[in-house]
Amino acid sequence: MMKGRIHSFQSMGAADGPGVRFVIFMQGCNLRCAYCHNPDTWSLTGEEYSLLDVMKRILKFRPYFGKEGGVTVSGGEPLLQWEFVAALFKRLKEEGIHTALDTSGTGNLKGAKEVLKFTDLVICDLKFSAEEEYFRYCRADMTEVLNFIKLTEEMQIPLWVRHVVVPGLNDSPADLQKIVKIARLFSNFKRLELLPFRKLCNSKYEALGIPFPFAGYEECPDSKIDELNQLIKHF
Ligand code: SF4
Repeated sequence: MMKGRIHSFQSMGAADGPGVRFVIFMQGCNLRCAYCHNPDTWSLTGEEYSLLDVMKRILKFRPYFGKEGGVTVSGGEPLLQWEFVAALFKRLKEEGIHTALDTSGTGNLKGAKEVLKFTDLVICDLKFSAEEEYFRYCRADMTEVLNFIKLTEEMQIPLWVRHVVVPGLNDSPADLQKIVKIARLFSNFKRLELLPFRKLCNSKYEALGIPFPFAGYEECPDSKIDELNQLIKHF
């Protein structure tokens, strides 16, 4: 029986995709983003759940999904466990349930393709606009991310792009303009979601005994996000 390592479940999420959503946070991440708010998902080891168990949990909440809602698989990085996510999404599509993949867009493209066959919406981070920043702050290869997004375009899956705004690091109009420009290169791009950098996760880093790399940065106020959202309408 197919099993997945899962960090946690959120049964009535409203922040990760359209409508009311059942959100599954997979365990394990290949990146180390300096602003990560879920360092507790990094470890590859975690509790295992069978596909059957996960489906049972989801189906209890089906009445709340309505027309727009459904299931979002997030993380950690869900594509590290692409076999499980592909099998789960396949089952969900058999049930007529909307599927969203929330990913950093890095890793095995062949595995990603298997997941995307059953994915209705891709929510992909575009964390920085330049390769060197991607590597410096996330230990990630930006080319992998762009190749992944290209694949979502080829497969014609609607794309939402997410970007965390860190004051003093990537919050200038010029920074945002670069992100918008990259996102618009892809014909399946539908929406840009700006997320404010927060430091609530500080205690998680302390508990894990890991230094929080961005402890010295200020949190991003909601007013800044509003301001930038207004601005990008004119780009
Ligand atoms: S990809 Fe997400 S979970 Fe992984 S380190 Fe970055 S922010 Fe954290």
